[in-house]
Amino acid sequence: MKIVLALGGNALGESPKQQLELVKLSAKPIADLIEQGHDVIVAHGNGPQVGMINLAFEESKKMNKKIPDVPFAECNAMSQGYIGYHLQNALREELKDRSIEKSVATIITQVIVDRNDPAFVNPTKPIGGFYSLEEAEKLTEENTYAFVEDAGRGYRRVIASPKPLDIAEIEIISTLVDSGHLVIAVGGGGIPVYEEGHRLIGIDAVIDKDFASSKLAEKLNADYLIILTAVDQVAINFGKPDEKWLSELDVETTNRYIKEGHFAPGSMLPKVEAAKEFALSKKGRKALITSLGKASLGIQGKTGTRIENK
Ligand code: ADP
Ligand code: MG
Repeated sequence: MKIVLALGGNALGESPKQQLELVKLSAKPIADLIEQGHDVIVAHGNGPQVGMINLAFEESKKMNKKIPDVPFAECNAMSQGYIGYHLQNALREELKDRSIEKSVATIITQVIVDRNDPAFVNPTKPIGGFYSLEEAEKLTEENTYAFVEDAGRGYRRVIASPKPLDIAEIEIISTLVDSGHLVIAVGGGGIPVYEEGHRLIGIDAVIDKDFASSKLAEKLNADYLIILTAVDQVAINFGKPDEKWLSELDVETTNRYIKEGHFAPGSMLPKVEAAKEFALSKKGRKALITSLGKASLGIQGKTGTRIENK
């Protein structure tokens, strides 16, 4: 099967040292799937990593005026390179250890969004550090940034999270996959860009990696979308006494549970929606949400939550 596998950004740690250790763990279940004969394309989140990059620029700018403004699209590009570097080396090593001949490459991916996506009217995704009201007001004036109060901890910049429409590098990704290479793509949801004639222009936004992965799976005509996260399964009444873990979900039931508010926005909701969108995109396509170590068991139907359009 052709499988797009999305790793959670939280599974990659908060420092280069941590990440270097954690990518070794992430490489194993991916190599397992390859060893079982599947074609795997790897996508990943970047929340903590792009946060680190963005914060480093923000903080150093406060101390040294020569530090330039680094737009969020550029921060995403840096995070794709940084994570891809570690991940491709870990995968290379794991595959060599198993005598599997496969080259691994990270494709710095641009994801096309609609400049008029309604998400730009009401930005929701918090990024970067915390500011006082005074600082936030000053930055808003200087840069037309938007800020929100974050749970009593201060003010945080928010940016838009538009829907992915297309993947600029899809042809090259597809060619590499068809030639048997292992590709890492749409890191951190991809660099958000919009089209203007022949130009692709970066825009201050962050694309949800779950939606970008679903789009990648759809464009590559994959059979399976696997979203790996911190939990083995999706639950209804999550964290409550009547919590119930789910093994199978059809589209109708998924819609009902979404309406009833079972999935937290910003964490489980985008995964469930992305899984549903992929399953809906063509008959026979399946999506699985599970934890890192359970990917193989999950596609055998032994754990995880599978969403299928029956
Ligand atoms: P990732 O870095 O993989 O994107 P997130 O933290 O964004 O991870 O999302 C996964 C988290 O969503 C889980 O660890 C869990 O705490 C939370 N969650 C929220 N609602 C649910 C639910 N209904 N079922 C399972 N987990 C849920
Ligand atoms: Mg997430």
